[in-house]
Amino acid sequence: MIRLGERICNRESFTTKALGILPSISTYMKTYALLRRSRRWSREEHVAYQAEALSRLLDHAYENVPYYRRIFDDRGLVPGDIRTPADLHLLPPLSREDLQANLPDLRARNYPESAFEYVTTGGSTGIPVGFYYEKGASRAREWAFMKTQWDRVGYRFGDRCIVLRGYIVGSSRDAIYWNKTLFGRWLLMSAHHMTEATLPAYICEIRRFRPRFIQAYPSTAAVLARYMIEHEVAPFPTVKAILCGSENLYPWQRDLLAEAFGCRVFSWYGNSEQTVLAGECEESTHYHIFPEYGVVELIGRDGQPVEDPGVLGEVVATNLTNYICPLIRYRTMDLAMAAAGPCTCGRHYPLLERVEGRLQDFIVTNNHRLISMTAVNMHSDVFDNVVQLQFCQEKAGEVLLRVIKKPGYNDRDTRYILEELDKKFGGDVDVTIHFVTEIRRTRRGKYQFLVQKLPLDRWGISV
Ligand SMILES: [Zn+2]
Repeated sequence: MIRLGERICNRESFTTKALGILPSISTYMKTYALLRRSRRWSREEHVAYQAEALSRLLDHAYENVPYYRRIFDDRGLVPGDIRTPADLHLLPPLSREDLQANLPDLRARNYPESAFEYVTTGGSTGIPVGFYYEKGASRAREWAFMKTQWDRVGYRFGDRCIVLRGYIVGSSRDAIYWNKTLFGRWLLMSAHHMTEATLPAYICEIRRFRPRFIQAYPSTAAVLARYMIEHEVAPFPTVKAILCGSENLYPWQRDLLAEAFGCRVFSWYGNSEQTVLAGECEESTHYHIFPEYGVVELIGRDGQPVEDPGVLGEVVATNLTNYICPLIRYRTMDLAMAAAGPCTCGRHYPLLERVEGRLQDFIVTNNHRLISMTAVNMHSDVFDNVVQLQFCQEKAGEVLLRVIKKPGYNDRDTRYILEELDKKFGGDVDVTIHFVTEIRRTRRGKYQFLVQKLPLDRWGISV
């Protein structure tokens, strides 16, 4: 789950990219104004808006995008056969592999070369993909949606923010691991230098900066939070909320962050491909799906739509605004569960109770059952003598657990950990513990709770 912050503020040229949005300020304003209006729409108004936006997109894809012309022709369909999102099942889903294999044919022929911005993502699923944004416009629209979400916890332009995402900033040579950007309003802090030795300096700098918000990967914020709790560091009084994205936010992480920072933990879910965006609201931690952004379907393991709240399905999503490289019924490989609505906040958006994260966030038992990492509860005392840990799986039914020990760790801890995990895994996974002194982060600076090397595909092992 790679999201906005990462795309618009990569470490080399954040300001350049932020300024690059300026020519598209009218796109931003138009989108933002729509979202201000539409939050008060009834369910019926949203349905009507989506049906119209979908028709427009399909007409365009049929006329201008060779891949979709072929898809329609092969099935003897025309865009008029798909009148509402419920008819979308007539078209096949688009997998990451399909996207990679057909990218040249997914480019809309009615856009000039100069409008195409090539973007790649990959990371946790292990299948890198490339696709196109409309230069300037795609990012401006995304900003409008993100700002609309952050408005719910009081974010204003110009607010001071700590950004604790995947950056490498500064160096240990001069012991400065941060860097101001966006005209001094955002302080980018390095995720790669956070250690017991350097965290006091981070905390000092955050206090001095007086941020109103902390934008973070949950895993990175958790490193800071755990240190603060263990060393009885008081929360930062100026911080109104922790803005969490780009990774699954596990319930134990939410509790940990709320305890350490003493404020609201606000989470959103989306992807670089811009097919789905959903965030919490003022009153609830359910993810509110923006119907103006995309059509979201939840598809079960039988390939049929999941209708009932509380049942997991794969998120299959269609972006309604990217005409330059339309992604229709894109398989995100994320699993989520719908919630019954409407929310008490008054928005009539479809809701997700939770996002279980990627298929890659599941451990596979020896009988090919999937166990979500969310179920591996980290909030008991079982890992009290562990600095950090990471699961790694290469074979069904077997898991390697890397552990960095605290000084007080002994054999009793090992037995306790193995017993508790055996209960979680129902006796179907053999766990081997390896003691290590360091756990490597991903290239993007994330700590992975699970390194899943099995080729998982929709609820099972694909090969
Ligand atoms: Zn709500």
